[in-house]
Amino acid sequence: MKRVFLIFLFSLGFVRVAGAAGAANCLEAAAVKSVLSSIKVESADSDRFDRCREGSASHRIVQTLIFLKNLRLEKTPARSSFDQGILKEDFWGYFSKRVKRVFAVDRMVTECRGSTLAYVSPDFDSTTVYLCPGFFDSWLSVATRAEFLLHEARHFEGYGHVVCRRGLFQNQKSCDRRLQDRGSYAVSVEALSKMAERGSGLSAPSRSLLKATALVRARTNFNETP
Ligand SMILES: [Zn+2]
Repeated sequence: MKRVFLIFLFSLGFVRVAGAAGAANCLEAAAVKSVLSSIKVESADSDRFDRCREGSASHRIVQTLIFLKNLRLEKTPARSSFDQGILKEDFWGYFSKRVKRVFAVDRMVTECRGSTLAYVSPDFDSTTVYLCPGFFDSWLSVATRAEFLLHEARHFEGYGHVVCRRGLFQNQKSCDRRLQDRGSYAVSVEALSKMAERGSGLSAPSRSLLKATALVRARTNFNETP
């Protein structure tokens, strides 16, 4: 059977990250070139990438890749209990070693039913992350989108999900057994908590939101609460 790993929407993530492109803001040409030299960005509707067309699928993907590449973690020795040491200090390095292509699918794809935002299908293509239309909703922050990409990248190392025994996603295959299994949701909470605590250039409201999202994920996406 084809293995498909999905990540579902949650109702957090609505605060925009300071510094995200505004209406007249173009993504920086050198930064665009740099991320596109590592990752191919494509979309089902053949949306042609324009670094100044904010809001298009390809613009949002490239913006998220640039965010990941530019993200720096401030030096703090304190290590959060959510940090399993999977991503280490280099989120971009982790992602770009595993993912070579990001593809925006259209709403007709069955994997995008319900509240699914992203998925991978490792037996079909072991380096492509597929993004559903919900991934591009304007209320999602770029940091939240970055978390989804990192989560999906972890699936390429063989980590799947199990059925949630309780909570928001009860009876859906949207949980990991426990944080210490170091699966995709461990990557999610590690990314969220590191960005919340140490992410350079993130505003205080963004950090608070990322922290809250990490806590919600810890409670809803593990069958054994960390
Ligand atoms: Zn997943």
